[in-house]
Amino acid sequence: MAKKRFPCGHQGQGQYCHRCAQEQNQTAKQEQTQIAHQEWLALFESDPVNLRRLDNKQLIDKARKIINDIHAGVSYTHYKGKRMRYNRDIISVPVNRDYRLVFHTLEGKIQVYKLMSHEEYNVKKPGEKNR
Ligand SMILES: [Zn+2]
Repeated sequence: MAKKRFPCGHQGQGQYCHRCAQEQNQTAKQEQTQIAHQEWLALFESDPVNLRRLDNKQLIDKARKIINDIHAGVSYTHYKGKRMRYNRDIISVPVNRDYRLVFHTLEGKIQVYKLMSHEEYNVKKPGEKNR
């Protein structure tokens, strides 16, 4: 097959310039990645607590699932959550070894309160008085 020159200036075979098509494809993919990233960042805005510190997508997804499930009525014990002895209105749910989600009971409803690292949690127990 004879090569021909396309309007773009490239030479090649076929109905259209495959080089330009490939470049366009790549640009489209980059744009898609960018949009996906922006959508991902926007998700943090709708989180009831700041989850940006969990810099691992799997962990963030897990934390979101825990929050959504517990808000939807799944028992915190399903996620190995515990009520605090010093304040029964506070529930601590582990996300992983380093982080836990702290929930408050407000008028019988469980609401997520904040994300705490293991260190923070050990220094200041959430909801504990006189400390
Ligand atoms: Zn071309």
